[in-house]
Amino acid sequence: MVPEVRCVCGTEGLKVNRITAGNHLNPEYWHMLSDDMHFCPNSECSVVYFDDKTVFTLKEIKTKVFFKEKGSPKPLCYCKQVTEEDVIEAIRKGAKSVKEVEEITGIGNGGHCMITNPSGRCCRQFYVGFVEKMLEKVVSNKNNTEKQNEISEELPECCRIDQE
Ligand SMILES: [Zn+2]
Repeated sequence: MVPEVRCVCGTEGLKVNRITAGNHLNPEYWHMLSDDMHFCPNSECSVVYFDDKTVFTLKEIKTKVFFKEKGSPKPLCYCKQVTEEDVIEAIRKGAKSVKEVEEITGIGNGGHCMITNPSGRCCRQFYVGFVEKMLEKVVSNKNNTEKQNEISEELPECCRIDQE
């Protein structure tokens, strides 16, 4: 059984390859890397990589870590350099599905996530949820407007019935 490796914040770490951590870490810390680096997926925690001896926080990382990024732009796909802002823009311009967002923005299928994504994992599992959430938001806003229009169109008819 593989023992659980927990960050100081209590979150279970995701094992990453040394090359993943090394690619995002400032070179001055490369000598502190081990083959047992883990990524902390907690968005509220400033720790990015750790092993049983060392902790690297956002300060030692040169990459904007999407999980932990508060400001914009927020990176979503590191292989194709697509941000949350790009996705929202694509939906505003009319993309109606994850597939259409992928076609318009070029997000996904970069094939280099192990190196380019700080979590060392494929970005698709992270961005699909975000794209779906944003699509829902736009669609529900639209439905609300349509419903309001329907109600206001129906009102005169009701009034006429009342008058008869
Ligand atoms: Zn943590």
